[in-house]
Amino acid sequence: MFDSLSEKLGGILDRLTRRGALSEADVDAAMREVRRALLEADVALDVAREFVDNVRKQAIGATVVKSVTPGQMVVKIVHDQLVATLGGDAQNSGNAIDLHAAPPVAIMMVGLQGSGKTTTTAKLAKRLTERQKKKVLMASLDVRRPAAMEQLAVLGRETGIDTLPVVAGQQPPQIARRALDAGRLGGYDVVLLDTAGRTTLDDEMMNEAAEVKRSANPHEVLLVADSLTGQDAVNLARSFNERVGLTGIVLTRVDGDGRGGAALSMRAVTQKPIKLIGTGEKMDALEEFDPARIAGRILG
Ligand code: GDP
Repeated sequence: MFDSLSEKLGGILDRLTRRGALSEADVDAAMREVRRALLEADVALDVAREFVDNVRKQAIGATVVKSVTPGQMVVKIVHDQLVATLGGDAQNSGNAIDLHAAPPVAIMMVGLQGSGKTTTTAKLAKRLTERQKKKVLMASLDVRRPAAMEQLAVLGRETGIDTLPVVAGQQPPQIARRALDAGRLGGYDVVLLDTAGRTTLDDEMMNEAAEVKRSANPHEVLLVADSLTGQDAVNLARSFNERVGLTGIVLTRVDGDGRGGAALSMRAVTQKPIKLIGTGEKMDALEEFDPARIAGRILG
């Protein structure tokens, strides 16, 4: 991800750095190029516009014009603006999964079918078990696709994480309550609820997710979104946030050749942090989202 954006921004900033003195017109011309590069990387229009406006405001005027190395100053401003757009300082931007609630802490996973939701549920369960020594129970709420329930059970066996036994005929909110009861009785710290996705954004999925949320009152509602889908992932995040209410986002397939727009737009569009990124199919391919590291990667 970010390869093409990284190459373009690198080129634009390199030319600026080599110039010596910078006029306002030089900065303006460079910012037009930056804006184009962001749009080509699928960054949402408003987000690209605000990004460039912010950089321009800081770059023009005393600091840059009087600086001995104005180009480098602009590079630093672009870097800092990238970090801010991606969510700021990881330690202070609420990126960690919040487990500060009475156990069992319910975490609800939502998203489209195929986005990596079930895989991410198991990855997260494994991570919380291994790194934070939590006792985790996973439950599939996908009553429409028995294969999805079986997939979670298989991943549970593979990772050694408990899954809620399937009881035929129950609806998602009922299953969620049963999972929380089992969590309470079994002394679990965390209960992960893997809700049913659909292939496209539809009302039925949203209503079902909203109903599960009301019934389970989860501490976290995490949207799992495929970074390869670019703008669609951003629209999805906006809808889920409005209709269901999110606490954070997990971006999957960051190991793929997505253009990066989703990562750059989601925080700005939803005001919700990207908390984790999926970086592969393996069960340990889940990383914390660190804005400074990603900004560093984009600027090479
Ligand atoms: P769901 O329908 O949303 O539950 O999606 P699944 O969890 O079944 O995932 C669909 C496919 O995407 C599976 O083959 C996963 O192994 C794969 N997958 C999930 N997350 C990632 C990721 O971060 N990177 C890569 N490369 N593949 C992923």
